Amino acid sequence: MGTSTGCNGRDFLNRRKFIIATAGALASPLLPDRTLASSVHAFRHGDFDIRVFSDGHMIVPASMLAIGAPANKLKEVLRRTDAPAPMAWPAANIPLIKVGGDLILVDVGDGRYFQPTEGELLGSLRLNGVDPASITKVVLTHAHPDHIWGIANSAGELNYPNATYYVGGVEWNFWMNSGVAGSLPADFRGIVPRTQRALAAIAGRVTFVKHGHEIVSGMKVLDTPGHTPGQFSLELEGDTGLIITADALTHEVISFEYPEWVNGFDLDSDVAISTRKKLLTRVAMERTKLLGFHFRYPGIGYADALNSVYRFVPA
Ligand SMILES: [Zn+2]
Repeated sequence: MGTSTGCNGRDFLNRRKFIIATAGALASPLLPDRTLASSVHAFRHGDFDIRVFSDGHMIVPASMLAIGAPANKLKEVLRRTDAPAPMAWPAANIPLIKVGGDLILVDVGDGRYFQPTEGELLGSLRLNGVDPASITKVVLTHAHPDHIWGIANSAGELNYPNATYYVGGVEWNFWMNSGVAGSLPADFRGIVPRTQRALAAIAGRVTFVKHGHEIVSGMKVLDTPGHTPGQFSLELEGDTGLIITADALTHEVISFEYPEWVNGFDLDSDVAISTRKKLLTRVAMERTKLLGFHFRYPGIGYADALNSVYRFVPA
């Protein structure tokens, strides 16, 4: 996910009221998910120590995640989530992975340039004793605002100044092409300048990757195109296997139970749907653990299959 959203102001205000009423003094009206910043979910997977940070959450019309879906079915889906219909609140789960001498961040959030309910990552890292300068590798799954606009501060300085950045070569070429705006739906063209500035800021520190590339031993790039042309997920060895899905799966109900629904944030819907179905078939069969950027925090679980209907089961 990650393009222009048409965020509904009234729902945002309702959300603010809700948070203020329920979280009392802890709540900031501008930063509704700050409470997540101090309680970071941690787990071990094989050689990897993983902490899931939150960049906050987005507020998007749920209909964008299910274009053309039968209204009664979408209504039923929304009844099963926390978000006040007709909105969805996709989370922004960002794993920080310690392995060997490396500290690896997977995506960097929106830097508070995209939605006022995001941009929590840097503050949360610092609150939890992580110096952004100590991060050695930043893996960027794809170049949507909610995943990469947090690369640099407003002065253009890198927020993670000592990291090597890993980006899909196909993804880089797509977004850095001077004609990219013309190939996007009209609503999404506005994201191009800041996206290009963010990528340009890391040009001297970038390593281009493709399917099968090993970021470190046991952590591999898995192509999951469709959402964007060069999006990839990450496969981590250990016990059952773990896949950090990026936006190949974006919603813990819709992506699993209705993978054929058209997601308005997928740039090539047919490819994205085929990627989703392929991934679901595989991870359900292999019992692979999943970590989804947009699933409800901390976004970890499995895909259960029953008569080829999938269901997300939190771990
Ligand atoms: Zn996204």
